[in-house]
This record gives sequence, C-alpha cells and structure tokens, in this order.
Amino acid sequence: MKAQGVDVLAFGAGEPDFATPVAVCEAAKDAIDKGYTKYVASAGIADLRLAISEKLARENQLDYAPDQIVVSTGAKHSLYNAMQVLVEAGDEVILIAPYWMTYADQIRLAGGIPKVIHTTHETGFIPSPAQLVAAVTPKTKAIILNSPANPTGAVLPEETLRLIAELADRHNFWIVADEIYERLVYGVKHRSIASLDSALLERTITVGGCAKSYAMTGWRIGFAAAPPAVAKAMSNLQDQVTSNNVTFAQYGAAVAFRLPWDVVEAMRAQFEARRDVIVDLLRAIPGVEIATPQGAFYAFAQISNLLKPGEDDVEFAARLLDEARIAVVPGSVFEGPGYIRMSYATDLDTIRKGVERLGNLVAASPA
Ligand code: PLP
Repeated sequence: MKAQGVDVLAFGAGEPDFATPVAVCEAAKDAIDKGYTKYVASAGIADLRLAISEKLARENQLDYAPDQIVVSTGAKHSLYNAMQVLVEAGDEVILIAPYWMTYADQIRLAGGIPKVIHTTHETGFIPSPAQLVAAVTPKTKAIILNSPANPTGAVLPEETLRLIAELADRHNFWIVADEIYERLVYGVKHRSIASLDSALLERTITVGGCAKSYAMTGWRIGFAAAPPAVAKAMSNLQDQVTSNNVTFAQYGAAVAFRLPWDVVEAMRAQFEARRDVIVDLLRAIPGVEIATPQGAFYAFAQISNLLKPGEDDVEFAARLLDEARIAVVPGSVFEGPGYIRMSYATDLDTIRKGVERLGNLVAASPA
C-alpha cells in the first residue's frame, strides 16, 4: 500500500529505527580494506568471541570462556542451532505465551513439542509458580525464556527466574535464555538467569546479539554461550550448514560489544520516552487494556473489547489497515489472541498520529 502512495503508518517493525553506530561501520569498512574477506572459523573470529565473553562477564556476570561462544547469523540462527542440538523427537520444550513465533516453529523443526504456558496482561504476562510447576513433565527437555520479551515487553522478576532455575535443576532440563533485548529495559534491571548460580552455567544456553541493542538487525550477528559440549555441537552443526557468518561484519560486531554504555543508553532513553507516550495514549482509548511494558519496544494491547461480533484480532488488524491505515501485528501470531502488537521503534509523531487513528476508528464504529 505504501508503494502505491497510500499513507500507511507502520507499527509492525521489529527493529530499531536508529542508525548503526559509526564506529561499528568504520570497523567493518576497515576490515574490508584490510582484506578480511575470507573464510574464518565457523564459530567466529577469535576477537569477537573474546569481546562477547568479556561483555558477558562485565555486563551479565556470566563466566563463559571464548571457546564456549558460537557466533551465528543472528540470534535466530543461534536459537535454531540450540534446538537442533538439544531436542530429540517427542521432547517437550516449555514456552511462555504470548511468545515470539519463531520459537514454536524451531521446536517443531527439531521434532519437539511446544508446551505452552498462557499468560495475560492481568499478571503482566508473568507465569505463576503453579503454571510453571504444572508445565514440567518427564518429557521436558528445555524451557525457552525471553526476557525482556517480544511481543509483551515483560521482564521476568528474579523470583520467577529462581523458581525456573530450581525446576530445571530438579527435573534436569536445559534453559535457553534469549536475552536479545537485554539493554532495552525501563525502570527495571535485566538479570541473566545463569548469573543466579554458577551451577546454572552447566545447563543454560545464553543467546544474544547486536541487532536490537546496537541497531544492527541487517548485520546478522548473534551468539550462543553454552556449556563446552553444547557449544561444540552447535559449532559442528553450523560447520555443515552455513560455516562462519560474514567475516567483516564480525569485525564490526567486535567493536559493538565494546562500545561505551552511553551509545546504547541514548537509544534506550528514546525508546523509554516513546513507551510512555504510546502506553498513555492507548490507555486513553475506552476498551483498550495494556500492562506497562518493562522492556523491548512493543506495546501489546488487549483489544477484545473493541471487536465486533464474530471478529477476531486478525480481522481487527486487517480492519485497522483498511480503514485507519495503520499496520499492526495481530496477537494470534504470538499465540496471544485478542491483542495487537504495536512496535514503538518509530518516531513520536507517527506514534501520536497512529494511536489517534486507532481511537478515531473505534469511536466511529464501536463494537
Ligand atoms: N529473539 C527475539 C525475541 C526477537 O524478537 C528477534 C527478532 O525479532 C530475534 C531473537 C532475532 O534476532 P536476530 O536479528 O539477531 O536474529
């Protein structure tokens, strides 16, 4: 529709609207000029694995040696490797819904079965202890955690992380912690689950990357930090599938993971200001309910009061596009029916105009 000149306001993007920091771009250009354009080790160049290992120690209090780090084509690829290596046919992997849809498909691609815990905005999308305990069965192979979360913005509190760690230890399953949004938190602290107890390093695969923290989605650099045998298995798998990620992108990423805090802080602060605006505006629309997101850059709003008889969130999102010219993602995509996801990785003007259009549509055609 945009290509046809229609004035659509887009809230679908899962990527920061900022530019990649200049120092990162310069390092990648310099790497090309120096001829770093050939194959390297499948798990990544030594300096990048060192930079990630140091970053994990410095910022996350995690002790993973450089040879426990595998660099892949985005965190998505790291997660795929983890599922392929850990999950056998018929294994269950626990997911907390609403979840990023890739997890469920990657579990299935490995022959596993997603075991889904459902949460709502009423609990801030935090699973209760009873839900977590009930999700564990003799077939549980792993749990995938995503804190801060896409699409809900939920940040798991420490007591929930402690219970999950205890259950994993008692029932001997893996923890896959996708911490890709770790830098984007608002008024709360991010805590890496494996930092709760050094024994957890033996059963946790910590996944991260450059995409969201440093506005580097197109660079396709992600990493997994894992116990040595798991890291080796992921590296062996990758060796037969993609080999190393782009060599000169890795030189840029090594600079990103060493950037001073204020570079990321400037972007984080802008996201926080936008979050405050979008949440206030959405809450002012009668019928919309939303738990304040504590991280990432998504507002996940319950809109079931706005649906016409027989309408679902997918049809509602289509109506928003057709009639109000705003593009959002329906919650069903994330196994969160009755919600819509609006990314606030866009400027304040677009946010104000977009939510106004939503409010006008609702006022003009009440449920
Ligand atoms: N994990 C989550 C929760 C995401 O939302 C995304 C991207 O949208 C990714 C991982 C993928 O990150 P990358 O671009 O590094 O593959």
